[in-house]
Amino acid sequence: MAFAAHVPTMLIMVIASFVMMAAAMAVVAWGRRHDGLLHWSVALLVNAVGHTLLLLRGQIPDVISIVGANGMLSGSLALLLAAIFQFQGRSARWMLLLLPPVMLVCLIAFLTDDFTERVALVGTVLGLQSLWVVAAIARYRRSTVGRGQWLVVAGLGAEAAVLLSRAFGAMAHTEAADSILDSSAVQTLTFLTTFSVVLVSSLGFIFMLRDRADENNRVMAARDPLTGVANRRSLVASLDRDVARALRTHESIAVMMVDIDHFKRVNDIYGHPVGDQVLCSVVNVLRERVRAQDLVGRYGGEEFMVVLPDTGLAGAEQLARALCRAVADSRCHVSAADVPGSSPGGVDIEVTVSIGVYGGQLEQGDSWDLLIAAADRALYQAKENGRNRVEVATSLRSPGGPAVSRRGAETLPTPLR
Ligand code: GH3
Ligand code: MG
Ligand code: MG
Repeated sequence: MAFAAHVPTMLIMVIASFVMMAAAMAVVAWGRRHDGLLHWSVALLVNAVGHTLLLLRGQIPDVISIVGANGMLSGSLALLLAAIFQFQGRSARWMLLLLPPVMLVCLIAFLTDDFTERVALVGTVLGLQSLWVVAAIARYRRSTVGRGQWLVVAGLGAEAAVLLSRAFGAMAHTEAADSILDSSAVQTLTFLTTFSVVLVSSLGFIFMLRDRADENNRVMAARDPLTGVANRRSLVASLDRDVARALRTHESIAVMMVDIDHFKRVNDIYGHPVGDQVLCSVVNVLRERVRAQDLVGRYGGEEFMVVLPDTGLAGAEQLARALCRAVADSRCHVSAADVPGSSPGGVDIEVTVSIGVYGGQLEQGDSWDLLIAAADRALYQAKENGRNRVEVATSLRSPGGPAVSRRGAETLPTPLR
């Protein structure tokens, strides 16, 4: 047959490349977080052992070459599935995962001596296992970032298609070969597919890991580690985008600066760690009450900013008053263990906030830093007027000249683009 490669040579190529890939992955995966890479590497190694046993057909007892090899190939797919489960943070139920390999080994050992029947059986079981991996990925496709997952799906989907059609072919008695090492077109196609799909799906899995690491880094770089809200850099980036949209659409936009009153005292009385808990408690109050489209972020220290797209001054002021009241009514409960000398029930700490608001329509030339400066001036006014209150800035530019923050010469962060 024209399209028939020398199967033992192909097998040696398959084995060598799987062992190399498994070793490379194991080196990278060793000692890392449990993200599935080590399982994937072991799966490749088990697969290589399975193919080695196939290669040794005739030179080692048939029971090892036939039963052992197919058990290994099926076990390798179980390990791939375990790798996917671990990647997804699901616990691998090994009893269930190892059921197909154990079942396959028993069926081959006890039921079938005939090559064609075996091809049908092995093709069906391995094909269904490949589909199981595909289904596991597809189920969590929305929470998995990137396109790497589609490489794994394509690879193992193709593997399932070849294995299942080979199984059907065998059942319909169209199988040309009568030994696994015969150089038939079907054998050539089977091993070529195995080789390519393992390569493609392994690459896909590595991309899945990389894409998730990228996403985690992106999220971490945008968040304040203490409170979990947007940090100053992502706040400004978001405000910059919202300002550009407001200029385009002529919609209003509002900004609030929220500063905790006398926060230094909280630190002085209870200590810095309790102060951190109070910061988080204030953030939670703010977050619970803003609308879905609003963004709360930590501008610095004990100062927070709320960006309110498509909102005029009246709406922003109303929300600011609600937030101010909500913080004043809230209590941050701190356990007795964190406050030495307190009553066994712990303490409830009260704080208030002052809020400066700016809201309105923008004109060409207006920029995000003008909005922050205006809200900041209003905040300064709220502090001056006694704290625990809301003040609004009615104009974007300070009446006394160019817009300056009450922080004087502070440079505002460069927005991300
Ligand atoms: P005012 O009402 O005028 O705003 O008074 P204040 O005490 O809140 O203002 P001031 O700016 O004097 O003090 C802010 C304090 O916030 C000082 C600083 O130690 C504290 N702070 C800043 N960041 C953190 C933080 O991450 N954790 C804790 N616990 N404290 C912080
Ligand atoms: Mg303060
Ligand atoms: Mg402050």
